[in-house]
Amino acid sequence: MTKIIELPTILADQIAAGEVVERPASVVKELVENAIDAHATQIDVVVEEAGLKSIKIIDNGDGIESSQVENAFKRHATSKITTREDLFKISTLGFRGEALPSIASVAKVTMNTAVAGQSGAFIAVNGGKIVDEKSSASRKGTEITVSDLFFNTPARLKYVKSLQTEMSVISDMMNRLAMSHTTISFSLTHGDKEVLRTTGNGQLQQTISAIYGVKSARQMLEFSGHDLDFKISGYTSLPELTRAGRQFISILINGRYVKNTSLNKAIIKGYGSKLMVGRYPVTVLNIQLDPLLVDVNVHPTKQEVRLSKESELTELIKKVIYERIAKENLIPEALENL
Ligand code: ADP
Ligand code: MG
Repeated sequence: MTKIIELPTILADQIAAGEVVERPASVVKELVENAIDAHATQIDVVVEEAGLKSIKIIDNGDGIESSQVENAFKRHATSKITTREDLFKISTLGFRGEALPSIASVAKVTMNTAVAGQSGAFIAVNGGKIVDEKSSASRKGTEITVSDLFFNTPARLKYVKSLQTEMSVISDMMNRLAMSHTTISFSLTHGDKEVLRTTGNGQLQQTISAIYGVKSARQMLEFSGHDLDFKISGYTSLPELTRAGRQFISILINGRYVKNTSLNKAIIKGYGSKLMVGRYPVTVLNIQLDPLLVDVNVHPTKQEVRLSKESELTELIKKVIYERIAKENLIPEALENL
């Protein structure tokens, strides 16, 4: 008889990790998102060897109560949603309760965490097994270190690209997190080199300047617009400040960085014939909408979304970008022809 058995927890977590933890940058993304959800105003990320040796994230957020620390590492355990209805109006970056158990199943994790006014907790998890747990004297917030990523999944380790590539993906991810949360002060350090530092003063243009340089930031045009369902705002470059890749377009929906081809295209269309073939603008587009209009529960990494009224939104984006560029007397053709 062929037996059908439930997989042991650690194995199930490792299977989930295959989707959530693709590379070091995925760890950075998930942990920084947790710090953001915990209302941190300062988030410092220190990575060694492009995150493969270690990734340390220190935040000054809410912390986790000692009694809850073990739960945080359980699969599908979350403090962010409780009912079915919550799933349709997600206002946090996390909600799947998968990141910590997934990461801990393919790495060595230590966490020090404390809520205000209480003594803190320390936990160490190796490849999904809790190896140490004790109380600790921590200040409010959470410090989490992920070492030896993929030490027990050699196939995944082999798939990881060069340190340089992995570091640039981490850096890209941090840039987007910083642009989507301008009131948080972020830093990213690789070895002894500071890669990014933002002030957290709420000025998007200053964050852009920390990322793309003062000169580029000065050459960007501020835009905003809205219709009944959507509010959009951000910065986009003059047509002369373009780049060879689409990766300089960042789209943020309710503070979440998303990948969406239609919205990308809408931005480019707004430029009409002003962009040369193969050239793309540098754009940061913030979209605010009722969470009911967006389904983020499409993929474990939560970067793909399904939008209701997508065509209404693309029209709005195209029009707002077009009108902003036209203000600089740059576009002769009519909006209807784009
Ligand atoms: P999710 O973010 O989807 O809830 P995670 O596995 O990422 O799932 O985290 C599990 C839980 O651990 C979170 O719901 C949260 O309560 C807690 N947590 C994780 N990281 C932090 C942090 N940096 N600060 C405070 N709480 C945290
Ligand atoms: Mg999370």
